[in-house]
Amino acid sequence: MKRFNRSVFPSKGPKGIVLALTIALAGIGVLSWLISDTREINNVTYSQFLDLIEENKVEKVHVTGQDVQGKLKDGSRFETVVVDSPQMWDMLRAHNVMVAVDNLANQFNFWHLLFLGSLILFFIFVWQFIRQARSASSGGGPGGIFNMGKSKARMFPPSAIKEKFSSVAGVHEAKEELQDVVDFLKNPDKYKSMGAKIPRGVLLVGEPGNGKTLLARAVAGEANCPFFSISGSDFIEVFVGVGASRVRDLFEQARSHAPCIVFIDEIDAVGRHRGRGMGGGHDEREQTLNQLLTEMDGFLTYKKPVIVLAATNRSDVLDKALLRPGRFDRIVHVPYPDQKSREQILQVHSQSVKLDPTIDLAKVARATSGFSGADLANLINEAAINASKAGKTMIDVHDLEEAHDKILIGKVSKSKMLTDEDKRVTAYHEAGHALIRLLMPLDSDPLHKVTIIPRGHALGVTSFLPEREKYTSSKDEMISSIMAALGGRAAEELIFNKLMTGAASDFRAATAIARSMVCDYGMSEKLGPVVYSQEYGQQPYSESTARLIDEEVRRILDECQVKVREMLSQHKDKLDKLAQLLIEKETVYAGEVYELLGIEPRTELKLS
Ligand code: ADP
Ligand code: ZN
Repeated sequence: MKRFNRSVFPSKGPKGIVLALTIALAGIGVLSWLISDTREINNVTYSQFLDLIEENKVEKVHVTGQDVQGKLKDGSRFETVVVDSPQMWDMLRAHNVMVAVDNLANQFNFWHLLFLGSLILFFIFVWQFIRQARSASSGGGPGGIFNMGKSKARMFPPSAIKEKFSSVAGVHEAKEELQDVVDFLKNPDKYKSMGAKIPRGVLLVGEPGNGKTLLARAVAGEANCPFFSISGSDFIEVFVGVGASRVRDLFEQARSHAPCIVFIDEIDAVGRHRGRGMGGGHDEREQTLNQLLTEMDGFLTYKKPVIVLAATNRSDVLDKALLRPGRFDRIVHVPYPDQKSREQILQVHSQSVKLDPTIDLAKVARATSGFSGADLANLINEAAINASKAGKTMIDVHDLEEAHDKILIGKVSKSKMLTDEDKRVTAYHEAGHALIRLLMPLDSDPLHKVTIIPRGHALGVTSFLPEREKYTSSKDEMISSIMAALGGRAAEELIFNKLMTGAASDFRAATAIARSMVCDYGMSEKLGPVVYSQEYGQQPYSESTARLIDEEVRRILDECQVKVREMLSQHKDKLDKLAQLLIEKETVYAGEVYELLGIEPRTELKLS
């Protein structure tokens, strides 16, 4: 992935350029002074020159047209001018002087080039300086002398977009969410009459190769509208102000083609949170980001909306301002495909090749856990290459296996691949979280889905959907959350009887909840209804209170842990079943879990 263009100057920003230019020009000066050695050249007359030859003092001469430069045997240099003189040539030969002759036209030499080069550099520098001054006073004028500001975006008219939702296999949730955008683009009037908000930005989050670009194009395909595509790194250039003016140009173009989709890949290249740079080197990126925010906040009509879809695999580094309402207020996850989705993706991609009909794609899907959509497309493609190299008419199992191994070797280094053992441990860990939730009283958040497909840094995820937007939590709910967090490690312990390292973030979450119960919500009788929060890293309470807080937090966690261990060993059969299902299917939705376990999510539970 290309990140930044750093072609001309070693450092971005005006200070870097000034420094680089000064050093370059100084270097050129010193170098030419050292090499050309103009200090010692003596001018001699033509007759003196002839005398020198006669006296055998001349070692070599360099003749360029009428100019003669020469070196004496004592090392000193001289220069003279001659008129066409056959006598001179004879003498040079007779006295064995080395002679080099240059055509007049070649006089335009290296030094001239260097001079010209520095001149050009100088003008670029001046131009940039003027530009900057202008952009500082006017917020950046569009375009530039060389049209540096013209956006690098590519526009695809509807006729050029072949992708539809049917081209994207799996990712049902993502498609469902994006269907809204399609509906809106197709039927803005319906939204208007309902007074519904115009969707503006959707952030697609997922590891590379899982179909974010594909989905964005499919949205345009479904809505039959133009598609503008650009990568975040294309905004970032050496020259300050260019990125911002590219953003402006892009949106100008997009608005004139509205309704349309603008797709920004790798948005993290511009969207990292601001104010983290050292010494202003990030001006360019910040200006670009500000411009993007301005454009997204701009006036929109129902008739001519521009909807921005952006992709990233690093939503954690994005500036929070990007995620505010009216900007990228919807986040759609595009995870690694689960087994069923992998089978469907394989199906989509094998339509364009000849596959041995006895091949069981479900089996291939089972063997490709951790493959992205792009890996699967690549798998089919490599297999097709293998088959045609071997002169076969169809792709057979061996071709697929060979391709599989090749891709796997490439992936293992980047390893997000789970070994079978990892997969088992992760399955039990996530099953532990989920089962505890299911066994808790009704008022805790219901289970949404469990997955052991790695996402970002996590090996697995168990997610719960709050039923309603909640502003307060009851003590029971907080206890439930702590217990669910502890359920992962407890399940591992119960089954594998050894400690693993994968639960650190769970403990952190559990501890944070327990601490806020004690310090913020007055839920500990020992400490009472007092807020014990730390201010500026200092604790405004005594050491003994601090110890008491720690003890209380510890007590809550310990009690929860005992309870969790008890519950899991009591329901070990359910834990086994759920883990087994996870190993098999990788992603399991709440409905399936209830059905499998035959439990009502209700168990009265009392903690002191
Ligand atoms: P991203 O933008 O997330 O990096 P892409 O959309 O560029 O990923 O995906 C790369 C390629 O992988 C696609 O062009 C397509 O061939 C294949 N692919 C990825 N996900 C899917 C999917 N869900 N269904 C079908 N093909 C997919
Ligand atoms: Zn966990």
